[in-house]
Amino acid sequence: MDKKFLCDATCHRLARWLRFLGIDTEVTSEYRVHPLLRMVDKSGRILLTRNRKFVEEKNPRVYILNSDFVFEELKEVIEQFNIKNPSLFTRCTRCNEVLKKIDKEKVKGKVPYFTYRHFDEFKICPRCDKIYWQGSHYELIKKRLVKEGIWEILFSHQKR
Ligand SMILES: [Zn+2]
Repeated sequence: MDKKFLCDATCHRLARWLRFLGIDTEVTSEYRVHPLLRMVDKSGRILLTRNRKFVEEKNPRVYILNSDFVFEELKEVIEQFNIKNPSLFTRCTRCNEVLKKIDKEKVKGKVPYFTYRHFDEFKICPRCDKIYWQGSHYELIKKRLVKEGIWEILFSHQKR
């Protein structure tokens, strides 16, 4: 999976979910067509947008979302770009940076005591220092993806 995305101002929630999936997704508050097209050219990313003005541009590096519900958008992107078996929870949802492993001793005092006691594997964002672990938040996200039928699309081929 080497596709990289750029979400414009119309789909920031989608960006967060793509990052949960570990997919390289930058966001921008830019919404004007031409500046966005320049950003796409420069970055090599695919623009995701709900802005119908892009229809006229017919640019292959722009994907116009049909839905305005975040899980439907996520399904569209997964199907359109054939995303399979992504590395979940490997990216910071705040800044898109790839997370790095951090020794348990180093997070002492930086995460809730309960968390420190019950988890052994921690990751940190090298940019914003946010600490991640596979706790209840992780389970909730996974459950939501299952409920929305997205988990099945992502990992269905493993059942065979
Ligand atoms: Zn971060």
